[in-house]
Amino acid sequence: MAKTGRDFTGFVRVRGAREHNLKNVNLDIPRDALVVFTGISGSGKSSLAFGTLYAEAQRRYLESVSPYARRLFNQMAIPEVDEIEGLPPAVALQQQRGAASTRSSVGSVTTLSNLLRMLYSRAGDYPAGQSIIYAESFSPNTPEGACTECHGLGKVYEITEKTMVPDDTLTIREKAIASWPSAWQGQNQRDILTTMGYDIDVPWKDLPKKDRDWILFTEEQPVVPVYSGYSHAEIKRFIASKRQPDYMGTFTGAHRYVRHTFANTQSALMKKRVSQYMLSTECPVCHGKRLRQEPLSIKFADYDIAEISRLALNKLATIFEPYAKGVAPALKKMETAHPEKVVVAQRIAEDFLARLQVMLDLGLGYLTIERSTPTLSPGELQRLRLATQVRSNLFGVVYVLDEPSAGLHPADTEALLRALDKLKASGNSLFVVEHEIDVIRHADWIVDVGPAAGEKGGHILYSGLPEGLRGVKESLTRHYIYDDAAKTITDPRIAKDWLKLEGITRNNLLDLNVAFPLGVLTSVSGVSGSGKSSLVSQVLVELVAEQLGLQVDISTDTEADPLENSEVVTLGGKISSGMKNIKRLVVVDQKPIGRTPRSNLATYTGLFDHVRKLFAATPMAKARKFDAGRFSFNVVKGRCPHCEGEGMVMVELLFLPSVYTPCPTCGGTRYNPKTLEVKYKDKNIAEVLGLTVDEAANFFDEEPAISRALEVVREVGLGYLRLGQPATELSGGEAQRIKLATELQRAQHGQTLYVLDEPTTGLHPSDVERLLLQLNRLVDAGNTVILVEHDMEVIAASDWVIDIGPGAGEAGGKIVAEGKPADIVKNKHSRTAPYLAKHI
Ligand code: ADP
Ligand code: ADP
Ligand code: ZN
Ligand code: ZN
Repeated sequence: MAKTGRDFTGFVRVRGAREHNLKNVNLDIPRDALVVFTGISGSGKSSLAFGTLYAEAQRRYLESVSPYARRLFNQMAIPEVDEIEGLPPAVALQQQRGAASTRSSVGSVTTLSNLLRMLYSRAGDYPAGQSIIYAESFSPNTPEGACTECHGLGKVYEITEKTMVPDDTLTIREKAIASWPSAWQGQNQRDILTTMGYDIDVPWKDLPKKDRDWILFTEEQPVVPVYSGYSHAEIKRFIASKRQPDYMGTFTGAHRYVRHTFANTQSALMKKRVSQYMLSTECPVCHGKRLRQEPLSIKFADYDIAEISRLALNKLATIFEPYAKGVAPALKKMETAHPEKVVVAQRIAEDFLARLQVMLDLGLGYLTIERSTPTLSPGELQRLRLATQVRSNLFGVVYVLDEPSAGLHPADTEALLRALDKLKASGNSLFVVEHEIDVIRHADWIVDVGPAAGEKGGHILYSGLPEGLRGVKESLTRHYIYDDAAKTITDPRIAKDWLKLEGITRNNLLDLNVAFPLGVLTSVSGVSGSGKSSLVSQVLVELVAEQLGLQVDISTDTEADPLENSEVVTLGGKISSGMKNIKRLVVVDQKPIGRTPRSNLATYTGLFDHVRKLFAATPMAKARKFDAGRFSFNVVKGRCPHCEGEGMVMVELLFLPSVYTPCPTCGGTRYNPKTLEVKYKDKNIAEVLGLTVDEAANFFDEEPAISRALEVVREVGLGYLRLGQPATELSGGEAQRIKLATELQRAQHGQTLYVLDEPTTGLHPSDVERLLLQLNRLVDAGNTVILVEHDMEVIAASDWVIDIGPGAGEAGGKIVAEGKPADIVKNKHSRTAPYLAKHI
């Protein structure tokens, strides 16, 4: 029910918005409506919706709270805007990419866990004689609730001889004790053992048990003289003759070292290293349920609270429905024994069911209460937050959303639109940045930003009722909305060979066999939660990496808790053929290209190496003996000593969040004055880093190596980025395209497998066309590309499609259809088929 011009109750008036690339724009946007911000990537949509509107709403709100409370917010910069009138308070539901993982779960984000605890406490079946238990005691995160054996972790960690000494045929000198530190410190421990008279040259298994136990498990920390490189007999003589030792060394048992490092180290990497020597097993007392026996003895619908938290949400809905409607047989029984509980059970069940319903509507029925949020995709997490908001009964606020359709199959998008409509109907405004045509078509008002990206964008091409966009000549968006969907007539390529996987068991995949064609472009499709990522981004990547002898650190994040990570591996399956045609594996994901401002486009693509060599080759640099290293802001000799090449310094304010300001010494240039005196053509190194890729292409047009690198970056649509733009300012989609560009400029030898998980996220349809062009170039060069995709345009243009499903979670995980796009369309069971049909 789109609105017409007369229906709007009021407008938000924006005057003089200049955030990032916005060109001092003025516009009026209706409240109580669904407003969609469109435009190609980098045009300035987010700068307007988040950087200006949301940032201003937050600033006003924060002015009204105490300075202490203010510090708790992840405060945004004060927006560059003259005036905004009529702005309601705002709630942002942004996709947090690469955000720090927190220990939260689906249940805690949605508050369903609280409701469950209340239900169990007040309306659960108590065994005879068990007195009532408070709601908090059903939480493993409270002292009253946590299992006393495992402290609520559900697991116990054991460090055994077997974990610390994986190969007992080695001697101590040959590093039998793998869990000891590797470098100097490990040598130190071995020297200490020599002084103490232990034989470090017999195989570990031949040492007496008493000695093995002491070395591994002692808590004693003797301090002894160390004479490096001598035998025990020699050392004995030295001690007798009172010869000065190299130093006094402190012994630490291997077990103690692992425990202490794990508990105390600040380094995620160290933590990860020692965690491999810890064996995690299910807690023998609570069997992984994390709670004490008392709370676990209380049941609802025959499940204890840990069991019910492991059921899929759509299963939960079927359990709660009869309770909510008052027809569950269990309620009848309750009626006689505990009449007071009946009302409570029914009330809570009603509330629970209503909240569940919204989540099911948003295509999240396959999740469980227990699922930890770091394992969710950014799109799933955003929809979970959205679902929570729909039930929050707030009104009069504006929700600012970032591509809520990300990760959604078109079949799920309709439900998303219903959820947005509900929020609107309760009197809220919705400002949504979106590329998905079905969402744009549903808008009451469209703001189209453009015409191009970066400096060439930032203008409001159109702000008005959807119909009016049709006449806006400069808009790239209008074609996709008003012209018929382009029909793809491709002649699919033929597979050169097949990569066959057998017996895959992971998440919802059960003993699945699948064959991926090599030398072609394949899309894996299916509704959200059907198992696409489990198959492609998890199993396929891990198996191929293993065969190529690569470390599987592609999917593991060093900042995540190492023990949490090791849990996910429930992998079954193997590659049965096809590996001889794969020499390299490249995963092009949306993770940041670096976590600090020290990485940027120029450093990541390798372009900066060439630039620095050019500067080192100038006459002035030669005269001063400046080498290429001098022009790196990561190297002491060339960089500004005050900010150490960061260009920014952090200023701690007493009662306000600390802020970054340009370094006062170098004025934000990152370099010291002597370095900046060197110029190539008319620019110093800092000025070169300030150029956009487009400008740099002109500036370096006589340098083939640099020009070629810049050209590919332009081809993936990032000509608007500055060479030195810090990694921390780039969106996930931009990071992904930089990775792609880096690959494209590499000499192509073929036989590389490229894996991309939803590469069209954040891309305008016109950017999608460009992306397809690049992917096809990779395939034409003899490589294989496998995508997880929802975009029908991309699926239609693929050579091969593997459709997973039919449903999500337990109702998915099977191959519904596989073949050329034109064949998929004919499949009656595929939920992708009807949507794909429109594009073929
Ligand atoms: P869109 O949302 O349309 O993709 P953005 O609003 O994110 O576009 O970006 C518009 C322009 O502003 C781009 O040139 C982008 O590189 C730049 N930009 C985005 N974030 C920042 C930032 N934090 N600092 C400086 N420039 C930024
Ligand atoms: P898709 O990529 O098609 O959206 P996924 O492969 O992400 O689907 O999910 C398939 C099923 O596996 C879902 O039921 C999902 O909840 C489950 N799942 C996915 N990742 C994990 C994980 N890390 N831990 C537990 N379950 C998972
Ligand atoms: Zn336990
Ligand atoms: Zn400085």
